[in-house]
Amino acid sequence: MSSLGAEKSEEIKGENFLQERVKKLRALLARSEKPQGLLVRYRPNYFYLSGFSGSTGGLLITQTQAWLLVDFRYWEQAEMEATNCKVCRLNSSFWSTVAELARDEGLESLGFEAEHLSYDDYLNLKNALGTTEPVAVKGLVEELRQVKNEQELALMQRAAEIADEAFRSLIPLIKPGTVELDLALELEYLMRRAGAEGVPFPLIVASGPRSALPHGVATTRKLRDGDLVVFDFGALYKGYCSDMTRTVIINKAEGWQREIYFKVLRAQTKVLAELREGLHAAEADRFARDSLQSAGYGPYFGHGLGHGIGIEPHEGPVLSPRSKALLRQGMVFTVEPGVYLPGRGGVRIEDMVILREHGPEILTKLIKKLLIL
Ligand code: ZN
Ligand code: ZN
Repeated sequence: MSSLGAEKSEEIKGENFLQERVKKLRALLARSEKPQGLLVRYRPNYFYLSGFSGSTGGLLITQTQAWLLVDFRYWEQAEMEATNCKVCRLNSSFWSTVAELARDEGLESLGFEAEHLSYDDYLNLKNALGTTEPVAVKGLVEELRQVKNEQELALMQRAAEIADEAFRSLIPLIKPGTVELDLALELEYLMRRAGAEGVPFPLIVASGPRSALPHGVATTRKLRDGDLVVFDFGALYKGYCSDMTRTVIINKAEGWQREIYFKVLRAQTKVLAELREGLHAAEADRFARDSLQSAGYGPYFGHGLGHGIGIEPHEGPVLSPRSKALLRQGMVFTVEPGVYLPGRGGVRIEDMVILREHGPEILTKLIKKLLIL
């Protein structure tokens, strides 16, 4: 097959999975207590359902139609990307156009994304709709997004590879005197050179006592001998994210640093050995928490074990003690236990995994042996 032919068949496949997603959403909406249509304004959600990557738009899904409403800036882009939708070129107000389409479709109720619509826009919607009732809907598209298809998994695998490769190239630069911010910048540059379109979150480079800050974004601090340095980073590739953490030590490791490194690694290894279809996310969290608790570090692991990842760096399922989620095949999530000793330093090790039929497939392949640089 010619390369052009291969591209074409990719396109057709693309259209199919977008249609498949809309079909699944319609099935959820068809349940009796749900509204007759859904207005999707949250970018990650309309990108998932339509392929439209612009930053502003609105998708109106009913049982028979999928309208993508965009303003002048996106008219052409929407036609190219959202091949499964009818593109509605906005000439007048967004809200009055939504109301008009809802009336034409005879909708008695229209759902909106309760977590994402501002109160102001809720009033705009309510006022425009007239007799059609606006109904708050929570997490419907987010639910669908949790289980990835093979095309999404391939993109996430590439996003993880890009981050792996970039970190390997960064290693020679990790030495005393280097500034955290310069390392973060270099890491981002390396990922973008390798094909990333950006980073999904501000990169964390936290050295010395700062490594005890679970979210220590890079600062002007210079690395010193004996520092623990936490790197938490990821790449954005064709709309999908990767996320991983490695902790290294500069020049010489003290006993307590080795100790927490291996306790965190052991906790992570335990979880990875237990992951399987049908496991409660809270139970996965408990494997890590029990392991660190028995090592005496329970109080120093204060965050959840991990999170789902995909179009957003943090999405469902949540892996924490309070999570109600059940782990299912095709979910992609992180496993990231950590120990943080205030004023001294911390260690976190984070991998991104796909849950497959027979267990987890680790996407982030950088070694986890303690690196003393
Ligand atoms: Zn991370
Ligand atoms: Zn993470």
